[in-house]
Amino acid sequence: MRKTVLVTGGCGFIGANFVRLLFETRPDWRLINLDKLTYAGNLQNLEGLAEHPDYRFVRGDICDRPLLDTLFQEEQIDTVVHFAAESHVDRSITGPAEFIRTNITGTFTLLEAAKKYWLENGQGQKKGHCRFLHVSTDEVYGSLGATGFFTEQTPYSPRSPYSASKASSDHLVRAYFHTYGLPILITNCSNNYGPYQFPEKLIPLMLNNGRQGKELPVYGDGGNVRDWLYVQDHCEAIIRVIEQGRLGESYNIGGHNEKNNLQVVELLCDMLDEKIGLLPSGNARRSLITFVKDRLGHDRRYAIAADKIDRDLGWTPKYTFEQGIEKTVTWYLE
Ligand code: NAD
Repeated sequence: MRKTVLVTGGCGFIGANFVRLLFETRPDWRLINLDKLTYAGNLQNLEGLAEHPDYRFVRGDICDRPLLDTLFQEEQIDTVVHFAAESHVDRSITGPAEFIRTNITGTFTLLEAAKKYWLENGQGQKKGHCRFLHVSTDEVYGSLGATGFFTEQTPYSPRSPYSASKASSDHLVRAYFHTYGLPILITNCSNNYGPYQFPEKLIPLMLNNGRQGKELPVYGDGGNVRDWLYVQDHCEAIIRVIEQGRLGESYNIGGHNEKNNLQVVELLCDMLDEKIGLLPSGNARRSLITFVKDRLGHDRRYAIAADKIDRDLGWTPKYTFEQGIEKTVTWYLE
């Protein structure tokens, strides 16, 4: 069925990959991309789409309630896919205020606008197939030891201002389902990697520095473990949840790819050496790795059990880490 989708944060990393995938796989859907274009948003991520008749870009803030009301009315939005957020843990440690504003107040404002349009106003004609999908993170569950996995039943235990703000937004979204019957869905995913990521995050930062022969700073002992999810797999999972997810439910999305930071950085070094040659000094890029003071409160390990989305919706990741990282490195070098 044709949908009119409001994507928030569609000029960021995952949002841009999602918008591109939607155009490829759901050509009859209309797409409105609301993005404030913070430092993390980049219009070039969506180059080539601006003229598409079923695409509209709006530069604006999810905290701007009058703008949201106008968009819901004008476009008759029936689906929201909410990516917009402040997303970098390090920035949340040095400046948490913007995380509270965008991630909590912004999500609240968006929920209120959807509630008004879909439930109160009588305007949401296609009420039955309205969906509000909130994109969240596995970081809301806290930190794991050497064993165990996060399931949808794992109690929330966020430990950084970023994850606390995302946990708060998840609670609000869920509350709007139980209190007002808003048709919500929540996804909690692990670390994404792939094209269009801002080069402050581990993989694009290391590729950028490594290519230029600059230092490769690794936090602590490099032993922090993440479950790496190729961004296209994540975006396909989101479409599956929109189309088949049970309202009010959360779905964990993971890549079945646990690697510690040092393993990832060493692999990137080796791939760069192979693809563009050794450093001018003749040294391998692993020589650029330097261990720096650990991030405050650095969570040791995240690992996702993505059994529910597999069992209930038949989604599993298609890309192995080897395939995904090959595509990623090639994309950044190009
Ligand atoms: P990103 O930082 O690359 O992009 C965020 C986008 O939101 C940017 O385009 C930015 O301009 C926009 N934005 C920020 N504040 C806004 C506001 N007030 N109003 C409108 N637009 C605003 O983020 P990302 O990595 O693409 O992450 C997208 C979502 O996925 C976030 O909600 C994040 O918490 C979640 N997530 C990301 C990862 C990951 O590995 N990147 C993992 C788990 C969950």
